[in-house]
Amino acid sequence: MPLDNGQREALGRLLERERSRLAARLQRFSAQRDDVEVGGFSQHMAEDASALTERETAYLLASEEGRRLVAVDQALDRLLHSPESFGVCEHCGVEIPYARLEAVPAARSCLECQTGVESRSGW
Ligand SMILES: [Zn+2]
Repeated sequence: MPLDNGQREALGRLLERERSRLAARLQRFSAQRDDVEVGGFSQHMAEDASALTERETAYLLASEEGRRLVAVDQALDRLLHSPESFGVCEHCGVEIPYARLEAVPAARSCLECQTGVESRSGW
């Protein structure tokens, strides 16, 4: 069953919280992101149309927490811009169970594919 609005909103809040947490540790981004927290979920979603720049992404990918922040940011971006693809495994196309999304809101693939991806080299 596709996610309903309430579930998407709940996941959006989880992602927001996760991003704040990660951003607080990556100081460079905490200052820049603080102001968008104020208006709450929907306003933030509307204004945050611009995802990270390539340079920011490259910088973030250099650290584990940065990688997670990028994943969270991309998940928020999908949630906003292509909600139909959010929560769908990008490898096999099955809907990712909501319980998994609650645990890992930035998940891009189902558990089976994720396990496959992690055991493959180069990912
Ligand atoms: Zn899958």
